[in-house]
Amino acid sequence: EQKYEKGLEKSRKTFGDKLNELFANFRSVDEEFFEELEEKLIEADVGFETAVKISEELQEEVKLRNVKDKKDVSNAIIEKLVSLYEAEGTTEDNSLHFAQNGPTVFLFVGVNGVGKTTTIGKLAHRYQQEGKKVLLAAADTFRAGAIEQLVEWGRRVNVEVVRKPERSDPAAVVFDAVQKAKSEDYDILLVDTAGRLQNKVNLMNELGKIARVITRELPDAPQEVLLALDATTGQNALTQAKQFKDVTNVTGIVLTKLDGTAKGGIVLAIRNELHLPVKLVGLGEKMDDLRDFEPVEFVYGLFN
Ligand code: GDP
Repeated sequence: EQKYEKGLEKSRKTFGDKLNELFANFRSVDEEFFEELEEKLIEADVGFETAVKISEELQEEVKLRNVKDKKDVSNAIIEKLVSLYEAEGTTEDNSLHFAQNGPTVFLFVGVNGVGKTTTIGKLAHRYQQEGKKVLLAAADTFRAGAIEQLVEWGRRVNVEVVRKPERSDPAAVVFDAVQKAKSEDYDILLVDTAGRLQNKVNLMNELGKIARVITRELPDAPQEVLLALDATTGQNALTQAKQFKDVTNVTGIVLTKLDGTAKGGIVLAIRNELHLPVKLVGLGEKMDDLRDFEPVEFVYGLFN
């Protein structure tokens, strides 16, 4: 589909190549075929558990529907991948949630370098273009340069940034930002945080404190806690996600750098193994390179 045309070339090539290899020596849908399918899916970073699940369910379906033809088998594979998402009725799940009244707050978490700040910049640009009043909070006060980087994005997309000096209490930055968002009628506040997984207890305390500061002022906020994951790290991203799920109430995933990797299959693993919806995908470094995640288009994008 058009939507992912530019960003999925690498993943599309891998998926396409793997399937072509699989069907190049296609004889029949026997046990060997399904073993090879599992292997190909794992190589495409779909993840072991998910690959086995797909293969087993497909095996049953093929038997039930008496599918034999090469083309029909290949269609059944695509249908199966799509159904992994549709089964859980995720169309609504995949969308971002907003406040009924007053400012909406999105909290961004994730380890350094995954693309949090960039995603916030892109999203600020999107909402700014939609005519919304957007505020950013530089609550990653830990990483050197993080505040400046967010301020630079703010300049680029013409959005205000609440900041304090490096090493300030992140919750104090968030407190100021929430006050400002309320008193000056902002529509949306995007909060950058420091993702130090090295010390889970500290991270949990810090994110907990930030969340409490927000909720005290805006009882329905944060509407989203978005975990940014770098798609190029493949299965490591899954491990990170499991760790973040332990320390905070993640509501969705931003999968970044999909343009730079052939590991698009990771999207299926995230859904199936973490039961977290992917809500946004990053397809480049520029402000327009952010897409909503739409499962059906995405899966077709892996093959076309
Ligand atoms: P943070 O530490 O999590 O805030 O990560 P940054 O936002 O600083 O991003 C780290 C690097 O990844 C930067 O060089 C970004 O330009 C780059 N980056 C972020 N998102 C994407 C993406 O979707 N595609 C590509 N190719 N690069 C990205």
